[in-house]
Amino acid sequence: MATLELVHLRKEYKRVTAVKDLSLSVADGEMLALLGESGCGKTTTLRMIAGFETPTSGKVVVDGKELGPNVPAYKRNIGIFFQNYALFPHMSVYDNVAFGLRMRRVPPEETRKRVDEALAMVRLPDLGDEYPRRLSGGQQQRVALARALVTRPQILLLDEPLSNLDAKLRVEMQVEIKRIQRELGITTIIVTHDQEEAVSLAHRVAVMRHGEIMQLGTPEEVFDHPSSPFVADFMGFQTFLRGNCQGQVGDCVAFNCSGKRVLVEKDMAVGMEAGMPAILAIRSENISVRPSKGASEGEQGIVSGVIAHKTYRGHATRLEVTGAFAESLFPSIVGRCDLSEGDEVEVELPADSICVYVEKGQDAN
Ligand code: ADP
Ligand code: MG
Repeated sequence: MATLELVHLRKEYKRVTAVKDLSLSVADGEMLALLGESGCGKTTTLRMIAGFETPTSGKVVVDGKELGPNVPAYKRNIGIFFQNYALFPHMSVYDNVAFGLRMRRVPPEETRKRVDEALAMVRLPDLGDEYPRRLSGGQQQRVALARALVTRPQILLLDEPLSNLDAKLRVEMQVEIKRIQRELGITTIIVTHDQEEAVSLAHRVAVMRHGEIMQLGTPEEVFDHPSSPFVADFMGFQTFLRGNCQGQVGDCVAFNCSGKRVLVEKDMAVGMEAGMPAILAIRSENISVRPSKGASEGEQGIVSGVIAHKTYRGHATRLEVTGAFAESLFPSIVGRCDLSEGDEVEVELPADSICVYVEKGQDAN
């Protein structure tokens, strides 16, 4: 297969810089996810790799060789599955998949063999004669995937391949894409705006914002140890507290948050020293909350508050707890939740699951 490197890649349009100085490398056989909000430059990055856009500066390197403007898209050995890159409606499934091979003048016998192989790979072996309109959304996605794979590309680019599918089909296709990618060992970039999709599919995840990479790491690194409040927010952390570092206490670092002491394990607060302003981020599922017994405040990691809002979310109940800090806490209770709005509660913030950042905002105090 192949290694892919992007070196200081940049793309300016008239009014916007879509991609700014983006560098990363994808190892042979690796699946990397580009994760970010709409407009952050994900599609533009893929289009430069595919050869549909010329970078303003920087380069795309495959197996050590630069793919410059002299290598047009059709000469790049790259399989593409783009957003809204629809199937040809007037062609059968077979002809849709065979298209790329015919363009490359692959002999008919070889074409038949490879199309059959690609359709078997996406588990649609008997649908070659059907027309796209007769297929379900999920089947159409599979045909599009077969079309991207049939040329046996060195590199596979998937741009939001699952965004048009309903929740159940999306999970099914996630499993298929992961199976095929691992089976073929094909070097892949998948673009998504869904954090769960990124962490469940990819070997590594790059979180993008405004054309730049904010963090690149394993799914566990970006999910559990986001490198900034922005990434934490994007990865689903919901509670953010302002605090002031008070230095080390035993195996922990203490923070004063609205007059209350919050302890964080040393490993989670590396580089924090007494006097530094900080932001503490906590995942909802790591905050536990129970009816107030009156006397626990002051115990390690326990503060008291009042339930201001309760929202039933089906798989979990989301609470908003006020009164403990200047900011609200947002615990999430899976299963039965007997607490009601107005209830006094005690809340536990576990020292080993709080991420800490140096507060850099203008309103730092
Ligand atoms: P994403 O795929 O992350 O949603 P895009 O790469 O499509 O983001 O777009 C990044 C930015 O570049 C957006 O602000 C978008 O409006 C702009 N953009 C993308 N393509 C063009 C183009 N052909 N001409 C001008 N601006 C563009
Ligand atoms: Mg896009």
